[in-house]
Amino acid sequence: SGGLDAARAGAWVRRLAELVQERKDELTDLDRPIGDSDHGVNLHRGMTAAVAALDAGDPATPGAVLTAVGSALVSKVGGASGPLYGTALRRAGKALGDAGEAGTPELARALRAALEGVVKLGGAQPGDATLVDALAPAVEALEAAAGRGDDPAAAARAAAGAAEEGALATTPMVARKGRASYLGERSAGHQDPGATSTALLVRALADALEG
Ligand code: ADP
Ligand code: MG
Ligand code: MG
Repeated sequence: SGGLDAARAGAWVRRLAELVQERKDELTDLDRPIGDSDHGVNLHRGMTAAVAALDAGDPATPGAVLTAVGSALVSKVGGASGPLYGTALRRAGKALGDAGEAGTPELARALRAALEGVVKLGGAQPGDATLVDALAPAVEALEAAAGRGDDPAAAARAAAGAAEEGALATTPMVARKGRASYLGERSAGHQDPGATSTALLVRALADALEG
C-alpha cells in the first residue's frame, strides 16, 4: 500500500471525525464517573472544526494537514484534551516536514514526536491512566513495524491494536494526571476516556491507509 500523502491524511482526519461522532456519547459516558462528562462533546466540537479547517484550506502535504488540524483542536477545545491532542498533531505535522508522503519509518517518527509533545505538556507517564497509555504502545508498535519493513497500512493496523489494548489496560489503573486524579484510588476501575479516543485516532489512521 501507499504511504500517508495529503489525501490520505485528510481521509484520516475525516475518518476520525466520523468515529468520534459515532462514539461521542460513549466517550462522554466514560468521562462521567471520573471526570466532567464532556470528553465526547469536546472532541466532537474539535473534529468538526478540524474538518472545516481542511475544507477551507486544502493543505498540500500530510504535515500541513496535521498542523492545521492540531491548530483547530487547540483553538476550539477548552478541555485538557484540546491542547494535548492539538499539540500531538502539531508535533506530528512538524515532524513530517514538507514531504509529500510518509512511509512507515516517517509515521513512526511523527507519532513518537506527538507522544513527546504530550508528555512534555502534560507530564504523564505510562501507567498514569491517560491517553499516553494508548499512544505509547501505538508508537512502539509503529517502530517495531518500521524495523520489520511493514508497509504503512499494516503498521498502522498493528498500532491500532496496540492502542486499543492500551486503552483497555487503563481500567484498573489509578489516575495520576488530569481530572480523574482528583478521585485518587477511587479512579481505579474505569477505562480512561482520552486513551479510548486515542485508540480511535490510531484506528482511523489504519482505515485511511487501507482505503
Ligand atoms: P477535561 O478533563 O478538561 O474535561 P477531556 O474530558 O476532554 O478534558 O479529556 C480528558 C482526558 O484527557 C483524560 O481522559 C486523559 O486521557 C487526558 N488527560 C488529561 N490530563 C492529561 C495529562 N496531563 N496528560 C495526558 N493526558 C491527559
Ligand atoms: Mg472531561
Ligand atoms: Mg472538561
